Amino acid sequence: MSSRKFKTEVADLLHLIIHSLYSNKEIFLRELISNASDAIDKLRYLSLTDEKLKGFSFEPRIDISFTEEGVRTLTISDNGIGMDEDDLNNNLGTIASSGTRKFLASLTDEQKKDSNLIGQFGVGFYSAFMVAKHIAVISRKAGDDKAWKWESDGESSYTVEEAQRDEQGSTIILTLSSEGEEYANRWELQNLIKKYSDNIAYPIFLSYDQVHYDNDKKDAEGNPLKTSEHKREQINTASALWKRSKSSIKDEEYKEFYKNSFYDSEDPLFYVHTQAEGAQEYTTLFYIPAKAPFDMYYADYRPGVKLYVKRVYITDDDKDLLPSYLRFVRGIIDSEDLPLNVSREILQENRVMAAIRNASVKKLLGEFRKMSENNPDLYDKFISQYNRPLKEGLYSDYANRETLLDLVRYRSSEEDGFVSLKKYKERMKEGQKAIYYISGGREDVLKASPLVAAYKEKGYEVLIMADDIDDIVTATIGKYGDVPLKAINKQGALDDLKSDEDKKKEEEKKPVAEKIRKALGDKVRDVVVSTRLTDSPAAVIMGDDDPSVQMQRIMKQMGAGDVPDIKPLLEINPDSPVIQKIEAASDEDYVAAASSVILDQALLQEGVMPSDPAAFAKNLTKLLS
Ligand code: ADP
Repeated sequence: MSSRKFKTEVADLLHLIIHSLYSNKEIFLRELISNASDAIDKLRYLSLTDEKLKGFSFEPRIDISFTEEGVRTLTISDNGIGMDEDDLNNNLGTIASSGTRKFLASLTDEQKKDSNLIGQFGVGFYSAFMVAKHIAVISRKAGDDKAWKWESDGESSYTVEEAQRDEQGSTIILTLSSEGEEYANRWELQNLIKKYSDNIAYPIFLSYDQVHYDNDKKDAEGNPLKTSEHKREQINTASALWKRSKSSIKDEEYKEFYKNSFYDSEDPLFYVHTQAEGAQEYTTLFYIPAKAPFDMYYADYRPGVKLYVKRVYITDDDKDLLPSYLRFVRGIIDSEDLPLNVSREILQENRVMAAIRNASVKKLLGEFRKMSENNPDLYDKFISQYNRPLKEGLYSDYANRETLLDLVRYRSSEEDGFVSLKKYKERMKEGQKAIYYISGGREDVLKASPLVAAYKEKGYEVLIMADDIDDIVTATIGKYGDVPLKAINKQGALDDLKSDEDKKKEEEKKPVAEKIRKALGDKVRDVVVSTRLTDSPAAVIMGDDDPSVQMQRIMKQMGAGDVPDIKPLLEINPDSPVIQKIEAASDEDYVAAASSVILDQALLQEGVMPSDPAAFAKNLTKLLS
């Protein structure tokens, strides 16, 4: 027998599970049954595809039994793939996924109490220690003749030794703790199996002793004679829900299926069930979770869609089943046309898969659009979770860009909440030639920008694009329908809207711009006059191809090597009393100090610190006195 210590992260995890995740301990059964079902999936798949196991025949089943008297135990047994000695060490002695480890480390104490997170990050097996003081796993791998027994008290170590098992598969024997005694009970188990595992595709049998009392016959003490009969009963429906006809499935069933299959305690926002016939025969059932999956922004997120071929499970780990911007979608794809032995490489090139994928994307986006038209409240909820990934689609999915442009939402200078480009376009001012937006900073900073104020003043709505990817994405969009998108913090955004009078004034005021430019020297690229600013004396603007000030700062922070120092363009407002004062002044010191403060405060409004705060303070004091 060999005894081993758990890897530290398992010890940590066990501690976490046992001490923080009690609130919903019954889910351990769902986890064990789901593991059993996965193991059968794997063996079925290998028996169709693997050289060694091809033709291996077995009748898939999961068996559950318990002892109610004496030491209470609960046993879950499957005839799936099984585990050999290495598998036991690797699977039940470590946490395989680095994502899980990272995720665990990021949890707050409050989140640690949420037992639904268990499933999400896949610590399934260990959850059995919530109800068991000892666990034994007896397993024999398909194709091997040796069997192994893994045992642990869930503290710091486990043992593995050789054992006996007639058939391939695994038997999990829980010695229930006081926390788990209630589960050694027929009704309790029956309810839990129905509740959580009804859609498991394989039959789940529960064995129990049915006790009869016979009043006509008495035992030695004169009590009714007790006899018991051993019974075995299938508990679950064991049909793949998605294969049933749509009209026969109740809303409740769809929701339960989602919650049980994708480990969510909340109902999904909505679902789409498609049974396609014709050139391609396939079924898809997609769900949109009410809350974005915790790992949506991790590079190593777990894909949410499972692939089946003719109801045989193939994989739940293929990130290409849907484009990555739809990685929040949960569900299944079941194809009648793919070969069973389809590998990841084949999938990538496969025409059938490509057709299903394209149709699925179209279907999903179409449903999103319908929702936005017919159910705005629901759509608001949807957008509050998934606006950002959809924006990724704007640059990664060119074919569907038109639809995506109608789906994404932006903040606006005109109202709280989200605005669509369509709505913006509909309420554009007479003669307005572009959709105006500002990007490259925090929402509150952008909203407070004097440029936005200037546009508002003139009756133009400005879209506030504060998502970190807006800067990159919006520049690639160019147009919405026939209307160009223009960033208002770039030079010349409003040129086409200026009146002749404005243009004349800008011409006239060039000398003061020149005066300020001289005073600022090489701190600016240029100083230009603009009639668009209303309250502020000046604003920093971008050249047409410049990254925003904010963006430049981020690039530097990220250590992007040779970020050229892009000097700001300063735009001044000739109607501002401060500018007029400079215009009239002859004292060079005053002009220098005032120009410098104007530049720094314009930068400050973009959320950028003056490059020399001490000089800024000194100049300000000078002016104030
Ligand atoms: P997850 O199922 O999320 O991977 P678990 O902790 O539940 O996490 O299980 C860890 C691993 O142990 C599984 O991925 C699987 O390889 C293996 N395993 C667990 N239960 C069984 C079983 N009944 N039969 C075969 N392998 C199993």
